[in-house]
Amino acid sequence: MKLQCRCGHSLEVTESQVEALLSQSQPLNCPQCGTSNTIIIQRDAPGVAGLIIGVLALLCTMLGLIICGISLFAAFPLSLIGATCSFCGRDNRRVAGLTLNLLSLFVSVFYLAILFALGMEISTVHPGD
Ligand SMILES: [Zn+2]
Repeated sequence: MKLQCRCGHSLEVTESQVEALLSQSQPLNCPQCGTSNTIIIQRDAPGVAGLIIGVLALLCTMLGLIICGISLFAAFPLSLIGATCSFCGRDNRRVAGLTLNLLSLFVSVFYLAILFALGMEISTVHPGD
């Protein structure tokens, strides 16, 4: 697990060291500046999940755009879930995840709206041939 100090120095620690740090039983000092201002940066499960889902959603959106496919219907709920996860994430991962997910959300909603509008038009132009 990777930790980062407020001075910018990052250090590799074990899971048990993190547990000790979280329970305040054992302060961890940064080898660079000597303070215990260490921030845990890899305990961001929602942020990581949001990023992964965001990439998947964007892939589904692109695939859907290229082949006019059904994957757009997958991109829509995926990006909604991804955006929710990313929203609970931290720092850069939150921003990156939200950007990815909202981008695919907007594109898939826009495209689905066009498909839906076209479908409506076709069904109103040719009502029961
Ligand atoms: Zn430091």
